Amino acid sequence: MNLAQSLLAACERHPEAEAFPGISYAALLPRVARLAGGLGVAPGDRVAVVLDNSVETALLYWAAQWAGAVFVPLSWRLPEEELDYCIDDAGAGLVIRDGDPLPEGPEHAGALDRDESEISLLLYTSGTTGRPKGVPRSHSADRAGGFSQALQHGYLHADRTLGAMPLYHTMGIHSLLAMHLVGGCYVPQARWNPGEALRLIEAERITSLYLAPTLFYDLVSHNSVARHDLSSVRALGYAGAAMTSALVAQCVEVFDPGVFVNHYGSTEIYTFSIGGDQVAKPGCAGRPAVNARLRLGPEGEICVHLSGDESFGGYWHRPDADEKALRDGWYHTGDIGHLDGDGDLWIDGRLDDMIISGGENIHPLEVEDVLAGHPGVHEVAVVGAPDDRLGHRVVAVVVVVEGTTSEELDAYCLASPLARFKRPRKYRLVPTLPKSASGKILRRVLRDEQKEST
Ligand code: AMP
Repeated sequence: MNLAQSLLAACERHPEAEAFPGISYAALLPRVARLAGGLGVAPGDRVAVVLDNSVETALLYWAAQWAGAVFVPLSWRLPEEELDYCIDDAGAGLVIRDGDPLPEGPEHAGALDRDESEISLLLYTSGTTGRPKGVPRSHSADRAGGFSQALQHGYLHADRTLGAMPLYHTMGIHSLLAMHLVGGCYVPQARWNPGEALRLIEAERITSLYLAPTLFYDLVSHNSVARHDLSSVRALGYAGAAMTSALVAQCVEVFDPGVFVNHYGSTEIYTFSIGGDQVAKPGCAGRPAVNARLRLGPEGEICVHLSGDESFGGYWHRPDADEKALRDGWYHTGDIGHLDGDGDLWIDGRLDDMIISGGENIHPLEVEDVLAGHPGVHEVAVVGAPDDRLGHRVVAVVVVVEGTTSEELDAYCLASPLARFKRPRKYRLVPTLPKSASGKILRRVLRDEQKEST
């Protein structure tokens, strides 16, 4: 089923359910069809948008699907040259930016017979190095991703989710997709603001949250958190990075969730694995997801089989990137992991991020997890800095509660079970950590800073 058919089916299945605040599925369809009519695009045309999350942005996504066009959402955080590069690379004939009027046209009949293997979405990966890469996603792969999210995050009919993750990110798009499958309501939040998010959760009776760990951190540590009634929230899911044990504990205290999952995946292949019980095993990436087969390569690199229903088929016009990541039918994630005694997966970090100090492999996440347990630590990133003797030495870049000192943190690590050689040799106390649009810490930036300061 393509996504135009899928939307039609959703509207026929539960016309009375709320799709967006104040808009039922019955009311949604004619609006989408008129917007599609106004886009003036043919099947396969690329429609680029540079927009905040809003009902209109979500309607445009559906309008593109209805017209059989390819939705190309781009981050408003990208510098102008990078935006131009992506728009050009995508070959987008139409670009819609914040403030542009959305002309409606006669109702489009819907590209209902478009093959589900055609591209419905072109996402650009944040690309921590080199040019951004276009990731084409088919109708069937994204629909499969929506289903796996609904199933594995424990969504129920008429659930309500906060649309805080940007719609130019795979998490944002799949939240929207999962909602239409369960007759759920997508409540957009334009730009991240934890105080406003808490207000929306209460006012809109949000039932499920799917956010990057940093955003959960912002919510649970916000000074207004205790003043809000958050009892409607039943299911928590996170992705993008592992949560620290300390953050899992705070989320449990604030939300007391019935479901709490870690969703490990990427833009290319939506879901790799699901850590289904974060309370029992905080940070664990769990078992292969319902649509995925995983294996660990020689250096512990996590590889995902390309035959999975959520998989992409290769990058947009980038044979060089295909050659690097797609080999023998497997997608090479660049992540390293290991299985514990129960057969559950743990992510140890990126192949590129591993610190080799004095010949020992040190995974930054392990050190970060220990430091994050110190009450004076807000956020921490551990990177390697060049060192004549050790090759690299471990440096912790930390956002601390005022008054917390490096000496205290060192004493804390010494008293912890962390192996001595993994202890940071240096602490840098900073006001904030550099982050990507999806809230991932940009270790590359921190590494470069270390190089410059040595
Ligand atoms: P992106 O395509 O931007 O979503 O980035 C995908 C990458 O983010 C993965 O290859 C991992 O390195 C990281 N990632 C995503 N989800 C998780 C998770 N739940 N735990 C640890 N790392 C994650």
